[in-house]
Amino acid sequence: MYIFLPDKYLKSVYQIDYQALKDAGIKMILFDLDNTIVPINAKLPSKKLKDLFEDIKSIGLKPVIMSNSGKKRVEPFKDELYVDAACSSLKPLSYKYKKIMNMYNLKASELAAVGDQLLTDVFGANKLGITTILVNPISTSDFKITSINRFFERIILRHFAKRDVFKKGEYYE
Ligand SMILES: [Mg+2]
Repeated sequence: MYIFLPDKYLKSVYQIDYQALKDAGIKMILFDLDNTIVPINAKLPSKKLKDLFEDIKSIGLKPVIMSNSGKKRVEPFKDELYVDAACSSLKPLSYKYKKIMNMYNLKASELAAVGDQLLTDVFGANKLGITTILVNPISTSDFKITSINRFFERIILRHFAKRDVFKKGEYYE
């Protein structure tokens, strides 16, 4: 079950201490797209998000979008945020994570992954030893496939709550 436990848990991508990640040796941050950096119905990034991505770059970190959504969904955000992006990533499978690490010649210890789902974003990255950061989903609506994941997520969250290792809304770094 601990393979689903994130290393850090914050309210949103705006609460993450990116400088601390940089200081800890992180070089690249893999951002989930839907419900992590934008609502599922957003077609373009907000000004606030653009500014955040510029701040992240300015401290010397490389933000990358890593989404399970297809190219058509991901492309406008890749273009507007001026970042590299991986679409159809099949998280939690390891394939795309490994491809990214090979492509940029980075070790798992140099990567952090930020996402809103335990079963895809956290599980996928934890398996490889990538630092995981869970954030609350931006909106309560999800894609259909995600609502199935959320069902299992609730079971895991109950398990964690019973053992006092994780509680919704109790953030930690
Ligand atoms: Mg998501």
